[in-house]
Amino acid sequence: MDPFGRQIDYLRISVTDRCDERCLYCMPEGYRGWARRADHLTADELVRVVEAATEAGFRKFRLTGGEPLIRKDIVDIARRIWDLTDVQTLGISTNGTHLAGMAGALKRAGVRSVNISLDSLDPLIYRTLTGGSLDGVLDGIDAALSAGFEVVKLNCVLLRGVNESQIRPLVDYAAANRLPVRFIELMPLGPGGPLGDRHFMPVADAMDLLGGRELFRPATSKPQGHGPARYYRYQGNGALVGFIGAVSCEDFCATCNKLRLTANGKLRPCLGRQGEIDLMPGLRAAGPDDGEVVSAIREAIANKPENHAFVEGYVSPRPMTAIGG
Ligand code: SAM
Ligand code: SF4
Repeated sequence: MDPFGRQIDYLRISVTDRCDERCLYCMPEGYRGWARRADHLTADELVRVVEAATEAGFRKFRLTGGEPLIRKDIVDIARRIWDLTDVQTLGISTNGTHLAGMAGALKRAGVRSVNISLDSLDPLIYRTLTGGSLDGVLDGIDAALSAGFEVVKLNCVLLRGVNESQIRPLVDYAAANRLPVRFIELMPLGPGGPLGDRHFMPVADAMDLLGGRELFRPATSKPQGHGPARYYRYQGNGALVGFIGAVSCEDFCATCNKLRLTANGKLRPCLGRQGEIDLMPGLRAAGPDDGEVVSAIREAIANKPENHAFVEGYVSPRPMTAIGG
């Protein structure tokens, strides 16, 4: 339990701060602030951190980044984490660009759930937003559906003036493919990005755009997952739609259950407040001491703030790609 009575048992692990896309909201234009590869946690170190986390009570794990699938040893990392006794669920968040060729291997390695970013179904908007190509991502989604993961979800960041036109097509696509889709409010992560306040769109506005709140019935069952989305059954077409009102929902942090681990070994208690605990000294000490790592994880839980500070104007000096989404 953290000081506010929340059970913290979910660790989101960034395996790299690099990415093959350049989403406007995640990676500031011209970003070159990569951590040195030598500073990235190795597969062995990642497995040691997960083992230490299970000792501190963590049971749910998600691999993320940057783009986790560009890491060559990602399937091996997933398999080794899944093989640990106290790991109950393992998910991965991806932009989907490499998923078509890797979905089967990830499933066999033990990955249970896959979250795929899809901010637009229009190839031009998709390219403007991410720098990448939509076709490969759609193939990746098909591959994930065929591979038989327990859960496949779509994530879309709401951006006023950029992808509002895509909200309805995405909900239709979600219904047609029987996939949950989640709409996420833009968080102010990283300085110098081209997306400022004027692009912020509250989840309530997305609901309005889909015909109003009365068309959303609270879902009786939600897809397996540990995130903060509120799920509804959309009466317009039966889609399961989740909303992540990270900025506009006042009680957003009340059910927070996670810590984040950056690719270079910093534990971050909250996305929206400064404060990190470095695991590297314990991991890379001459006589490695996993007891020190367990203590650092407990310290991060004890330091978890009650809520984020986005509404007070906090902007993380690290962009999302360097924190791990
Ligand atoms: N590359 C993978 C992907 O795109 O899904 C995993 C990493 S990405 C950082 C994880 C999630 O964070 C994605 O769903 C992405 O849309 C979201 N994200 C990134 N920057 C964000 C921001 N500024 N506000 C809200 N969500 C953001
Ligand atoms: Fe890459 Fe994901 Fe960030 Fe987009 S959101 S730049 S795909 S890490």
